[in-house]
Amino acid sequence: MSDRHILTAVAWPYANGPRHIGHVSGFGVPSDVFSRYQRMAGNKVLMVSGTDEHGTPITVAADAEGVGPQEIADRNNRIIVGDLTGLGLSYDLFTRTTTANHAAVSQEIFLGLLKNGYVFPQTTLGAISPSTGRTLPDRYIEGTCPICGYDGARGDQCDNCGNQLDPVDLINPVSKINGETPKFVESEHWFLDLPAFAKALGDWLGTRKSWRPNVLNFSINLLADLKPRSYTRDIDWGIRIPLPDWRERDDKRIYVWFDAVVGYLSASIEWARRTGDAEAWRQWWQSPDADAYYFMGKDNIVFHAEIWPAQLLGYNGGGDKGGTPGSYGALNLPTEVVSSEFLTMEGKKFSSSRRVVIYVRDFLERYDADALRYFIAVAGPENQDTDFTWAEFRRRNNDELVAGWGNLVNRSISMAAKNVGAVPQPGDLTDADRDLLSTTSGAFGTVGDLLGRNRQKAAINEAMRVVGEANKYLSDQAPWKLKEDPARRDSVLFTALQAIKDCNGLLSPFLPHAAQQVHELLGGEGTWSVQPRIEEVTDLDDGRGYPIITGDYETGQAVWASVPITPGTPLATPTPVFTKLDESIVEEELRRFGEGGE
Ligand SMILES: [Zn+2]
Repeated sequence: MSDRHILTAVAWPYANGPRHIGHVSGFGVPSDVFSRYQRMAGNKVLMVSGTDEHGTPITVAADAEGVGPQEIADRNNRIIVGDLTGLGLSYDLFTRTTTANHAAVSQEIFLGLLKNGYVFPQTTLGAISPSTGRTLPDRYIEGTCPICGYDGARGDQCDNCGNQLDPVDLINPVSKINGETPKFVESEHWFLDLPAFAKALGDWLGTRKSWRPNVLNFSINLLADLKPRSYTRDIDWGIRIPLPDWRERDDKRIYVWFDAVVGYLSASIEWARRTGDAEAWRQWWQSPDADAYYFMGKDNIVFHAEIWPAQLLGYNGGGDKGGTPGSYGALNLPTEVVSSEFLTMEGKKFSSSRRVVIYVRDFLERYDADALRYFIAVAGPENQDTDFTWAEFRRRNNDELVAGWGNLVNRSISMAAKNVGAVPQPGDLTDADRDLLSTTSGAFGTVGDLLGRNRQKAAINEAMRVVGEANKYLSDQAPWKLKEDPARRDSVLFTALQAIKDCNGLLSPFLPHAAQQVHELLGGEGTWSVQPRIEEVTDLDDGRGYPIITGDYETGQAVWASVPITPGTPLATPTPVFTKLDESIVEEELRRFGEGGE
């Protein structure tokens, strides 16, 4: 047991629509498995995120509906908060980027970078409409992506390859308002001097040996081509630039990506302010012993392994130009950037517009959250792109959760409830009994080591292998044949129940809802596994109301160790923990989503 401070920084879901299961397989479930494990192991976890609400796609959605961008953000923020809570994601604070606190923290980081000379003004080419002479915001310019050749790239970003663009980069740019070719005139912006961090970023990445090799190699390769990047954009929706003559301008804002990553810090500060100890965030951001793990899909690596560390280094005064920390003091860089690959669906890339999509809320209406969490952990895109198919989802659920883990729980507790009515008193244990218990209790070491290093797929496979051992033990010992030898039968059932208690601990980070049920089926009282809750709060600075996700996770009893069961604890006939899925669901779901298109 240790009590390290661990920041779990979870990628911010973008609030232009509901999130699908591909999104939550990248940032959501892995970050929660990690946090729940670390809390069970006795560490002090702060898990933060929120909805990312600035930037062009929100304004495009708002324009399409004829409403303001805040209305779009408010609606999707509420949907996303509901979805992530339904999945049991245990955020200490899930907030949003349109809070007054977030704007203030983002502006402080900008000013700290400016003070140390790492942002500088530069004249660049900005688009105007030739017919009206007015600035054309990035979102109103479309063209062909110069990097991947995609036709519908926007002035700030290509949605196909995910690269950040400038309008002047687009091939054949056109105005979306009237189809004319924009004219490019000089426009002043602020740039982040990324080349000034090449050495510091290289030194830092050189010490990050434990990262997933694909993430580390990708991050190191980014350093070969560092160019200054525009910190500000031509857009009217976002955080204002905190400088005289700039603050009031309606056509310039901080670029959405440069404020979104500051969200990890601003959410930590908001969390601290809400606890009544406004300085509490510093234990996760400034203690040399604290660790920070960032979770995301692979399309976001550049912002977490290059841009955000550069912002932190610059704020601390740690780039080529030196400098001193801003008013918050020096801030910790990420310990690890934990990136997943992509989940596809039935062999296709997820696409909301082509309806190749399974939204989280639709999924949770028909299936248990833990069934999806299990699939993501055991078959998700941890190291390579993987495919979600309904047939495989059903197979995993039925063969592994229901027939493997659920059956072990059900038949052992049923037999003990029927024959004894309580956890039986064991006699002398045999070698077979002791072997099983040493396997199940020993697994806390092996599975915990894997979880601490974010090898989650190996971790759940090892936990399920142990479940298999317990099932085999039960079949070999066949307590149902021991009617004539109740003393031996009771020893076998006691051993099986202790093994279940251990396996339930091992599986708790992955299956937090089932873990609470199994705890109760074993006669446990109170809360084993705490679930997040939605709380309606008011903005700490401007009084606006919004929902947050939070929870009192330290009140749960879940610990990362073998906990002895107590003979004599009353047991009732169990209800099934998992639901077997009928073969017909595969065809139903394929009809609902499958072919895409119509
Ligand atoms: Zn592209």
